[in-house]
Amino acid sequence: MTNIDVTTAHLGERAAAPAVCFVTLGCAKNEVDSAEMTKRVLSAGFDVVEDPSAADAVVVNTCSFIQAATEESLDTIFDICGLDNFENGSAKLIVAGCMPARYGADLEDELQEAKAFVPCSREDDIVEVLCAVLGVRPEASCDAFDSPYAESPSSYVKISDGCDRFCSFCAIPYIRGRYRSFPLDDVRAAVAERVAAGVREITLIAQDTGRWGEDFDEPDTTAHLLDVLAREFPATWFRLMYIEPQGVSDELLDTIAAHDNVCSYLDVPLQHASKPVLRAMNRAGDAESHRALVERIRARVPGITLRTTLIAGFPGETDDDFEELCAFLEDAEFDYAGVFPYSAEEGTRAATLDGQVDEEVKIERAQRIRDIADAIGEGRVSARIGSEMDVLVLGREEDGQLFGRAMCQAPEVDGVVYLEEGEVGDIVRVRIVDTLVYEMEGELCDGR
Ligand code: SF4
Repeated sequence: MTNIDVTTAHLGERAAAPAVCFVTLGCAKNEVDSAEMTKRVLSAGFDVVEDPSAADAVVVNTCSFIQAATEESLDTIFDICGLDNFENGSAKLIVAGCMPARYGADLEDELQEAKAFVPCSREDDIVEVLCAVLGVRPEASCDAFDSPYAESPSSYVKISDGCDRFCSFCAIPYIRGRYRSFPLDDVRAAVAERVAAGVREITLIAQDTGRWGEDFDEPDTTAHLLDVLAREFPATWFRLMYIEPQGVSDELLDTIAAHDNVCSYLDVPLQHASKPVLRAMNRAGDAESHRALVERIRARVPGITLRTTLIAGFPGETDDDFEELCAFLEDAEFDYAGVFPYSAEEGTRAATLDGQVDEEVKIERAQRIRDIADAIGEGRVSARIGSEMDVLVLGREEDGQLFGRAMCQAPEVDGVVYLEEGEVGDIVRVRIVDTLVYEMEGELCDGR
């Protein structure tokens, strides 16, 4: 599919460099991958544009974590194929990321519109693929480009890829491969690059952040990584996302508590609380161990903000299992919870289990969990009225409203703090004066 003639112009000899547009779907991990591909493409002398209708090539970085995400990726691809520059054949489509990783040759047969497919494992080759598709040769090396990280004071850094846990409902291990930690020096370099570009908040992500370093010849820990980064970049906030319960060590909690620039925040996906359901999910724990975990976290890091993820309507989930989950959620009082009705994913073990739950029941159960989580979460947010907190000023909404983020709010999932004044990129001291659902409104404290 990519064996196109490349004996054409060097990029530097063309009147204008080809314009490439990245369209990114799915989670923050894909955003990191797109930013890395953008860097490679810019350093090879291509232009990067935001508008797909103005591009010579569009790279759609797809998500196929669940069926709904695959459908959204396909809809996006077909929308792009309907643009004038695609209809008249002047622009080329490249499909990257999770969809080619998950569906391989089947996708190539189905999606003839694409000129190349770049699975996650081959994204480092994006320049070669673009050159082949567009029939150009790259610049030897072009350093004079704006960092893709200069656009926002907040950025993600991936500390590992893949997953070995094989939860029975999840396709990620088949899409992203086995767990592999990125070397400490690579993570430091990625952080340093963003800090140099003006980033003030780094969110550390992976499929399973708590396992970082376990696979090295000389094993290391996420706590050590966090400690090194927090000391080396004292003016930068660090936030750890997606930590499986097994990774929540006392050492890690003590590291979070010890550093003012490490957000007192953890996102621990628990998925369920009933033991039989968790076992069917190929996951450890039960309601009792989950309660003990939450208590331990709060005892070691007082005031910590906690997020979790839950699945309703997993195959075999009985009324009793579901009630156990609801009761656990009432007790645990998470600040935020992501709730999903179970989605049967092709190629996963859970999709073949007996006792698949009716679609309507799944949706009703998910809604009931969401209602419980929202009643608790909104109450915890409104209890912050009158308190003071640091807020990183992030930018303006389309209507001009200034907003920022406090340490108790993770990017994209937890809401923001609306402000009247402040400079983008500054960290300001704010008093919370009002809340609306999960959003907060703050006033600058005197003198800050
Ligand atoms: S730990 Fe997360 S990424 Fe890994 S298999 Fe389970 S749900 Fe999927």
